[in-house]
Amino acid sequence: RAKKDGPGRVVVYEPAMHAAALDYLSLRADLQRALAAGEFALQYQPLVRLDVESVVGVEALLRWHSPERGVVTPSEFLPIAEESGLISEIGQWVLANSARQVAAWRRRRPGLTLNVNVSGRELVRPGFVEDVTRILAAAGLPTNAVTLELTESVLMSDPQPAVLALNRLRARGLQLSIDDFGTGYSSLAYLRDLPVDELKVDRAFIARTQLTGRDMALLSSILELGHILGLRVVAEGIENAAQLEAVQKLGCSLGQGFHLQRPLDPAAIPPLLEAPPAYRAA
Ligand code: C2E
Ligand code: MG
Ligand code: MG
Ligand code: MG
Repeated sequence: RAKKDGPGRVVVYEPAMHAAALDYLSLRADLQRALAAGEFALQYQPLVRLDVESVVGVEALLRWHSPERGVVTPSEFLPIAEESGLISEIGQWVLANSARQVAAWRRRRPGLTLNVNVSGRELVRPGFVEDVTRILAAAGLPTNAVTLELTESVLMSDPQPAVLALNRLRARGLQLSIDDFGTGYSSLAYLRDLPVDELKVDRAFIARTQLTGRDMALLSSILELGHILGLRVVAEGIENAAQLEAVQKLGCSLGQGFHLQRPLDPAAIPPLLEAPPAYRAA
């Protein structure tokens, strides 16, 4: 048996740790080049008004097409982008591109809105609020057409600077959303005082909508909580007709999910703005 912090242990783990460190460094190096090399792209997932089933907005979702690695998912590269500080440049690229795109689509569909994910590190960066307003002005997209999505953990981990930034963004007309709601650990008292406009109920609650009475009751009370707080509520991750029917029955006004529309390349969006969404309940 190896001693507790003895050399035996180090030897056992070293090859794996070494490999992980190399992976990390090579991924970071590739990521550093990706932006300039034009390897990033955006997909757009429609936000659908559930009563009339029409597209009212889109959420921009970042994609990395690496020539060496193939498609790398955000969950694989975003943590590295955040740690290395690259997220700032990447985030500005996402906002500028999606804002220009949505400004163009609004000529066909005035009122179309844009949701953009923002990492916690970005939100509290000095100059972030000014950068956002400058980028939107340059793109010709009004600030009130844009909702920035933040996760609960971001808002809870360092609430004071986060709330300060939220208030400044709101003063400039932006809307704010809590993404993946219910997976973090916000206290209700804290939630009550957060300057946000929208709550996106995590798909963990909707995926369970298959549906026992208890799951329905839980989802129902989350939706009610949102409404009591005066927030717009979006049900994330609607994957089938039964789940759609359930959230509709519970009075949720907005939804997103593979059953409504998948994240799509930009070229696929304009047809959806002409006609009602292509989806039909089975
Ligand atoms: P998110 O903001 O909660 O986005 C929803 C994720 O769920 C997306 O994954 C989307 O493709 C996926 N999704 C949508 N509908 C369904 C469904 O019905 N079922 C299932 N199982 N999944 C569904 P994606 O694109 O891989 O993005 C993952 C996360 O990466 C996002 O979660 C967001 O937190 C982050 N992210 C994506 N783009 C950006 C970005 O531009 N900036 C930042 N900071 N984060 C981003
Ligand atoms: Mg999101
Ligand atoms: Mg989400
Ligand atoms: Mg998320």
